[in-house]
Amino acid sequence: MKSIYGYSEVDFENYLLSLGEKKFRAKQLIEWVYRHKIKSFDEITNMKKSFIEKLKEDFTIDEFECVKLQESSDGTKKFLFRLSDGNLIETVLMVNEYGYSVCVTSEVGCNMGCAFCASGLKKKLRNLETSEIVLQILMVEKFTNIKVTNIVVMGIGEPFDNYDNVIRFLRIVNNPLGLEIGARHITVSTCGLVPKIYEYSDFDLQVNLAISLHAPTDEIRNKLMPINKTYNIEKLKEAISYYIEKTNRRVTIEYILLDGINDTIDCANKLADLLHGLNVYVNLIPYNEVLEKPYKRSKADNMRAFFDLLKKRRINVQLRREQGSDIDAACGQLRSKEMKKEVLWEEE
Ligand code: SAH
Repeated sequence: MKSIYGYSEVDFENYLLSLGEKKFRAKQLIEWVYRHKIKSFDEITNMKKSFIEKLKEDFTIDEFECVKLQESSDGTKKFLFRLSDGNLIETVLMVNEYGYSVCVTSEVGCNMGCAFCASGLKKKLRNLETSEIVLQILMVEKFTNIKVTNIVVMGIGEPFDNYDNVIRFLRIVNNPLGLEIGARHITVSTCGLVPKIYEYSDFDLQVNLAISLHAPTDEIRNKLMPINKTYNIEKLKEAISYYIEKTNRRVTIEYILLDGINDTIDCANKLADLLHGLNVYVNLIPYNEVLEKPYKRSKADNMRAFFDLLKKRRINVQLRREQGSDIDAACGQLRSKEMKKEVLWEEE
């Protein structure tokens, strides 16, 4: 049996054709699943009984158990969900002036090993299934009674290390008969898996790309992000240029400011040199300190000076507003107390 939430419209069409059924029923199925939010296939009224029985044999309509829900003073909510195999994942809902934005997790753990990041403290156990990424959106809507308008794939995991499932997820949530989340309202963030950036450039949906850069030189980036030893800044920049050329879309560059590591005026100048002429938007992110890591957040004056220098050099830049840090839901903080306990338990 498969989860009904793992199938895109094309997947349903192929399934229907294999049964000798009409292709247009794929559209009907999507409406039943995502608009009517059926709990049982028996709720379907416009399909014959024998076909409904077949659906029951082949698919489950599953849910996550919400183990914990924390709410921040700024309205941010963090969900701890239990997957069917017992693994725990986190999903964050943020309230913005433009709507409701959900930060989804793409893998159980992460193998990228970025030196400053809490998520990587737990090695990747497995990819999330497409349905498990889709269910994060559905469960957030169910538990809060809101309609999600924006998605960032920036939770735990490297989305381009689980590329096919993430791409299928994007198709499903974007489907106009289903959740109908506009491609322009969706952003996928990568630490820089270059071959996948090329593949993503040729993807037919107009979804956004964010790159976790965090350093202006290979020397610094090699120390922070092991992926840089495989795909250095030059290769990454070529891939970003290709994406911009192919899609005509502006790329977001994420840059965490780490005290004494990458936050000097010299770094800001080098970053401006690197990005000069590229259609990018730089998001400067105040580092959220992680107990097990030695890095410190940049001093406010240095962050300001870094920001001002980029502005002066005519780079589009913003200093990101923090959300949900009081419940450990801010950038890079995803990894719950429960998950820490779980890791300890494994070590015993
Ligand atoms: N693997 C993807 C997506 C998940 S991380 C990626 O690397 O882009 C989402 C963002 O949070 C990345 O830019 C990541 O570098 C950043 N981040 C990780 N730890 C952080 C921390 N402690 N404080 C602030 N941002 C952090």
